[in-house]
Amino acid sequence: MTINGTAGGEAIGPGEILALFRQERAHTRADLVRLTGLARSTVTQRLDTLLAAGLLIPDGESASTGGRPPTRFRFNAAGGVLLITAIGASHLRCAVTDLEGKVLAEEACESDVAAGPHVVLNQVMGLFETLLTVVGSVPRNVRGVGVSVPGPVEFATGKVISPPIMIGWDGFDIPGYFAAHYGCPTLVDNDVNAMAFGEQRTYWPRHPHMLMIKVGTGVGCGIIVNGALHRGAQGAAGDLGHIPYSGGGTDNEETEPLCRCGNIGCVEAYAGGWALLRSLRELGHDIHSSSDVVRLIRAGQPDAVRLARQAGRVLGQAISDAVSFFNPSLVVIGGQLAHADEPLLAGIREVVYRRSLPLATRDLQITTSRLDYRAGVTGLALMLGDHLFAPHAVNQLLGVDSGGGDTESPILAISPHSQDGS
Ligand SMILES: [Zn+2]
Repeated sequence: MTINGTAGGEAIGPGEILALFRQERAHTRADLVRLTGLARSTVTQRLDTLLAAGLLIPDGESASTGGRPPTRFRFNAAGGVLLITAIGASHLRCAVTDLEGKVLAEEACESDVAAGPHVVLNQVMGLFETLLTVVGSVPRNVRGVGVSVPGPVEFATGKVISPPIMIGWDGFDIPGYFAAHYGCPTLVDNDVNAMAFGEQRTYWPRHPHMLMIKVGTGVGCGIIVNGALHRGAQGAAGDLGHIPYSGGGTDNEETEPLCRCGNIGCVEAYAGGWALLRSLRELGHDIHSSSDVVRLIRAGQPDAVRLARQAGRVLGQAISDAVSFFNPSLVVIGGQLAHADEPLLAGIREVVYRRSLPLATRDLQITTSRLDYRAGVTGLALMLGDHLFAPHAVNQLLGVDSGGGDTESPILAISPHSQDGS
């Protein structure tokens, strides 16, 4: 079926039409005629194609302007499910969502990412099967799989490359693993990019310039510029945890803490959950995880509060540098340590507002994540939906050449960078 050469010579296939419904810009035939300039007969043809494929469904009837009320349509969010997993350093969260990213069922559990891909992904598969049963679905309804990891992934293949804390994952083909089970596209991204995407899309659409700082076991930064994720040339943008902290007030390297990456004095070596855990254990506190650290801070334990304030100031310096580079209107703090609230946030705010130029901070908001523990799975589901239902992907699925867009591999791998979190 050829759909090129329509009104105005524009290539407006079913995929482009579906996008108008997903963006809620169109609800009726009349909307489509007005928005696309296509002939009514062509619009009807596109709609029939989308209805037959189950991508679009009738949605009641809209108010009439006289005569027969025009039928309304909407994207069929229930036309399949997405399987999502956000893998952290010490635990993971799995969810089944509808095709609009609404969480239908979810479950989290402890998981040591250093146990390697087979152990961790088998755990994920087990949860996926349980969750599919919970929502009354089956593997053949799965339209896509979204995975976020606390490590670097090769852009073209979705393979994890030399991850500092993901022992045994080097070169592992995550999309291949899921393709063998579900035969559908798999999107792989870095954890903080997924969180940034979810947070901005869900709560902050009026803030197209945003930084998402994840303070979990490690520290990372997701950068949204002009409403889109900024990944950099290799996907390594935003590696905030391993830039050096220069405010230690000493030139003596021996007094600066050793980082997991092998360097000394990194931001993460002061402010990451693992660093706070290390410092508190050295002070004699019998604790074992980032959640224990948060518990001590919230309980007002003086050592923990002092270290959290210091971590906030270290993060504040790094964020202030990032604010000077990107001039965001919003900085969102997420990850487990965000639950430390005031001691951490006070340190961050104090330094960012003091160090950054007045113009950069005049309208700058610094806040904690609203999606909280769901930021990763929500962001992945929304990102996956955008890829699966991109106009060219839909046209390809329907066997229609719209003449636009790239051909997309069935494996979707979005390049992330090395960051870590729990
Ligand atoms: Zn480091």
